[in-house]
Amino acid sequence: LYCSSDKRNMFATPRVPVARSTNVKVFVRTRPLLPSEDDHASNVIHASSADRQVILEDGSEKCFQYDGVLEEDAGQEEVYMQAVAPVVAKVKEGYNGTVFAYGQTGSGKTYTMGTSPYVSKANEGILQRVLQEFLSVDENQPPADDCSSPHILRMSMVEIYSETVFDLLALKTELKIKNEIGGGASIVGLVEEPIDTLEKGLALLKKGSNLRSIGTTAMNSGSSRSHALVFLTTKHRNREGCLKLVDLAGAEGVGRAQSSGMQFTEGVNINKGLLCLGKVLAALSSSSGYVPYRESLLTRVLKDSLGGGTHTTMIACVNPSSNNVHETINTLRYAEQARNIKIKVHALST
Ligand code: ADP
Repeated sequence: LYCSSDKRNMFATPRVPVARSTNVKVFVRTRPLLPSEDDHASNVIHASSADRQVILEDGSEKCFQYDGVLEEDAGQEEVYMQAVAPVVAKVKEGYNGTVFAYGQTGSGKTYTMGTSPYVSKANEGILQRVLQEFLSVDENQPPADDCSSPHILRMSMVEIYSETVFDLLALKTELKIKNEIGGGASIVGLVEEPIDTLEKGLALLKKGSNLRSIGTTAMNSGSSRSHALVFLTTKHRNREGCLKLVDLAGAEGVGRAQSSGMQFTEGVNINKGLLCLGKVLAALSSSSGYVPYRESLLTRVLKDSLGGGTHTTMIACVNPSSNNVHETINTLRYAEQARNIKIKVHALST
């Protein structure tokens, strides 16, 4: 997908591109054990936000280090402030930003991202908070600085399911893909809704989330095997940025497939996009010449967010239960690998 920021400079006064390097920022969020969970399960995660470490208390004492660790009692606001607000600040400055939620089904991705149609006011997730950040206007306060005055926003929402893109703001219409040079892809005919009030933004989000959940069976589940992507294009004075918020498919089986070199085949219940995302992350973190973006639709559409030009944050969600320890280790490893990626980011100097 090309955000309009990619063509922003066509008619503007020429400005000088500034390139800097930044690492992908990786946060781990562990959720509490739920009352509905197996009585025999115990919590095997020792998460320390102070040390930014996760230690597995399953006898192995494996230790993983991240840019930030959100313990089970961290609220939605804390998650937003630590992991997402810095990316939003960069988007306001005219950079592009991407936030991923990664983890096995049931680990808290939907809760964290806010991609459920039933989000209560108290539990609003990243998406609702991002919209508030851009659209809440305190009429009693004059803008304090250049970046705090109102932004113009446009929103798109798609689902990638079984290597097909569906428009969640247009009755789940199947969309076509156009190949771009270098292995990327843009989405053709995607609806971009202008949003000027918080109410409109929240209503669109609800509409898209609702459509995502329709058509999934009880055992499910389309939504655990699909990726939900929200694109917010912002414009403030002459600065445009694009923020992509991605609730990834359930990561179960991905680690096993990676370590055994297993290939994706139709019918195997492992998400092709996630497998390929893992390969792309591995190639980028080892600075290997060839990066296999072309192997899945997810990585083609997100090529720009992975390979450069974007401030990228991953929030890896983990279920702390002793019943899920293998998937938890896989998620923690995947997240650790993502931390090694250096990305060149470009903004236009003003
Ligand atoms: P996923 O999207 O990864 O499949 P969900 O977001 O649906 O997982 O979370 C599974 C369950 O755990 C839901 O009932 C959700 O409300 C609950 N949950 C997830 N994270 C938290 C949290 N941090 N605090 C309390 N409950 C949570």
